[in-house]
Amino acid sequence: MTELIVDKAYIAGQWRDADRRFAVTNPANGETLAEVPDLDGDAAREAVAAAEAAWPAWRRRTAKERAALLRAWFDAIMANQEALARLMTLEQGKPLAESRGEVAYGASFVEYYAEEAKRVAGETLPSHGADKRILVFREPIGVVAAITPWNFPLAMITRKCAPALAAGCPVVIKPAEAAPLTALALAQHAEEAGFPAGVLNVVTTAKPAVIGEVLTTDPRVRKISFTGSTPVGKKLLAQCAGTVKKASMELGGNAPFIVFDDADLDAAVEGAVASKYRNSGQTCVCTNRLLVQAGVYDTFLEKLTRRVTELKVGNGLDDGVVQGPLINAAAVDKVQSHIADALAKGGRLVCGGEPHALGGTFFQPTVIADVTDEMRVAREETFGPLAPVFRFDTVDQAIAMANATEFGLAAYFYARDYRRIWHVMEGLEYGMVAVNEGILSTELAPFGGVKESGLGREGSRHGLDEYTELKYVCVGGL
Ligand code: NAD
Repeated sequence: MTELIVDKAYIAGQWRDADRRFAVTNPANGETLAEVPDLDGDAAREAVAAAEAAWPAWRRRTAKERAALLRAWFDAIMANQEALARLMTLEQGKPLAESRGEVAYGASFVEYYAEEAKRVAGETLPSHGADKRILVFREPIGVVAAITPWNFPLAMITRKCAPALAAGCPVVIKPAEAAPLTALALAQHAEEAGFPAGVLNVVTTAKPAVIGEVLTTDPRVRKISFTGSTPVGKKLLAQCAGTVKKASMELGGNAPFIVFDDADLDAAVEGAVASKYRNSGQTCVCTNRLLVQAGVYDTFLEKLTRRVTELKVGNGLDDGVVQGPLINAAAVDKVQSHIADALAKGGRLVCGGEPHALGGTFFQPTVIADVTDEMRVAREETFGPLAPVFRFDTVDQAIAMANATEFGLAAYFYARDYRRIWHVMEGLEYGMVAVNEGILSTELAPFGGVKESGLGREGSRHGLDEYTELKYVCVGGL
C-alpha cells in the first residue's frame, strides 16, 4: 500500500507546493487533516498548457497502450482500496463501508474504459455518388477540464477521467475544496501506473470561481465535464459559451420515490432507506420525496419509521455506523430550514428532526409525514437525512407529482402489476428510473439527467462518446 495524504497539487508530472495553502478538515471532529495548495488562475493555465503539450503524443498512443495504463491505474486503486476508503471517510465523513464501495465503484469506471478504449471506432457510410466515399473518424476532443463535487470524491473523478483518457484526451481536474485529498491520492496512483507527465493534472484551490473562469474560457480547453449543483452548472455553461466549449453537466436532482398500493412494502422500505439515507442523504440520486399511495400510507410509514430509528449515526470509521456527519454547518442549516418550513405548513414530525446528540454536523435521520406541495421539500433538493412523505390517490396523480419539478435525474418506484410498471416507467420524465430497486449506479449504464439535472451521460459506451468528435471525410474522384 502507498502512503496516502498527499498535500501537493499535481501539474505537468510535478508535485507542486504553493505559498498559500488551505486546510482540509474531518467533518466528524473538525480536525485538520492536511493543508493543500490554494492555487490561482496562473497555475490553472499552466496545467492547461501541460495537458495541451501532452495531447499529441497521448492521442498517438495506440488504444491498447492507453488501455494498459488505465488497467494499471485500476490495479493500483484496488490494491489501495482500504487506504483510499479511510482517507475518504476522514475527509468526507461517509461510513467506511460506503467508502470501500465507492473505491470499487470508482475503480470500475477505470476498468471498464480500459476495456472500451479498444472499441472507439469510426465507420464508413453508403455514399452520395459512385465516385465518392464517406468515412467517419471518431477522434479525441482535446484537453478536458473536470470539476467535481465533495460528495463522491473518488468516483466523480474516475467517471470523467477514465473515458477521457481512454478516448485520447488529457485532463485537468479541479476537485472540490472540501475533499481534495482523495483526488491527489488518485493522481499518485496514476503516476505509479505510468501515465506520462501532463496527461493527468490536479489543481487544488479554495477559490473555485477563479480556476473555473480559466477552465471555461481558455480556448485550449475543448470540453468541460462538471458534476455539482445546478446554479454553479448554469454559471459554467454560460461561461463556456464564449469559446463554444462542449460541456457535460451532472447537476442536482429532486428524486421521487413512489410506493404503489401493490408494492412489496418491506422491499420498498429497504429501497427507500438505501436511496434516502446513504451518504447521509448527500447524493444527487438520493430520494428527495417519498410519494405513497393512500391505501398503504400508514403501514408504509410505520415500517419506514421503525427502520429509520434503528440507523446508527456516528463517526464513519466506527463499526456499525451507517450515517456519518453532514459535510458542513451550511448543510445542517439547509436540512433544519426544510424541516422548520414543513412543520410550519402542517407537516407531522414522525422521528428525528434535530441535530444529533453527538454534536458537530451530525443530524438525526428524520421522517416527516403529511407533506404537501406548498412545502420547500417539494421543490428543493434537501441533500440531507430528511424523508418527507407525501400522499397520493391515483397512479396518474403520482406521475404528475413526480414530474412537477425542473429536475429530472433519478426516479424510483415500487409496484407489482406489470401494466402499471410499464405505464409509470414510460411516464416519468427522468434520465434514470429504478423499478423495485433503491440503488441504480453502475459503470455499465448511462448515468445522467434530463431538464435542469444536466447534459450528457457518464458510464457505458455512451460515456466515452462525450470525449470524442466525429470527423466526416468525403473522398471524391474515385
Ligand atoms: P457545488 O456546485 O457547490 O460544487 C461542485 C464543484 O464546483 C466543486 O468542485 C466546487 O469547488 C466547484 N465550484 C463551485 N463554484 C464554482 C464556480 N463559480 N466556478 C467553478 N467551479 C465552482 O456542488 P457541491 O456542493 O460540491 O455538490 C453537491 C451538488 O452536486 C448537489 O446539487 C448534487 O445533486 C450535485 N451532484 C450531482 C451529481 C450528478 O451526477 N448529477 C453527482 C454528485 C453531486
